[in-house]
Amino acid sequence: MKDDFKHKGLRKKLVDTLRLKGITDENVLDAINTIPRHLFMDSGFVGHAYVDKAFPIAADQTISQPYTVARQTELLEVEKGDKILEIGTGSGYQTAVLLEMGAIVYSIERQNELFKKTKLFLPKIGYRPKKLIFGDGYQGYEEEAPYDGIIVTAGAPYVPKSLLSQLAIGGRMVIPLGDAVQIMTVITREGPKKFIKKEYGEYRFVPLLEDKN
Ligand code: SAH
Repeated sequence: MKDDFKHKGLRKKLVDTLRLKGITDENVLDAINTIPRHLFMDSGFVGHAYVDKAFPIAADQTISQPYTVARQTELLEVEKGDKILEIGTGSGYQTAVLLEMGAIVYSIERQNELFKKTKLFLPKIGYRPKKLIFGDGYQGYEEEAPYDGIIVTAGAPYVPKSLLSQLAIGGRMVIPLGDAVQIMTVITREGPKKFIKKEYGEYRFVPLLEDKN
């Protein structure tokens, strides 16, 4: 699994593109500049790893578009040492971005094939999430709650109640909400029962499905 000067050069260009598209969080841009995204995709797709596009991974799923990863992470306002719950591990690329930024990461995936693949892969390239969970993200992961941040990387038809309850006071959840098209939504928990919601434009995600398989 190599990462040579050519990949590094392409990554730098991708970061320039993300800057032009409006990403300003330097920690997010640094993480993207560091992580060998091509290694998260099947080898046949190496040439596509550093264009700003989503791409197929195993089990009919996609690795999110770099801009989307960057924007969602920026909206999460990650700080070093934050405890983050990710819903939809997929390729593990978003997980790696969070780890690169110094977060402590728990991530849930409902597709067993992807879960197993990514669990083996991430440590191979030096990324160690606190825990990868095979389960249903609608339930969250109560055992380790509350979380400073929750990031949902699939399109959710509604806000799962358990995720709201697992958010720390002062914590933020970034969740694309909707069916065919999703609105990127940030929910901040300001008190035990006080949640503030803000919206940040349209995106298209694969759906957040119930149960695991
Ligand atoms: N963060 C991933 C994005 C993958 S796409 C990456 O960087 O590659 C969204 C992922 O969410 C898919 O892997 C899909 O299987 C998963 N998913 C869908 N519904 C889910 C659920 N209820 N619980 C956990 N994961 C789910």
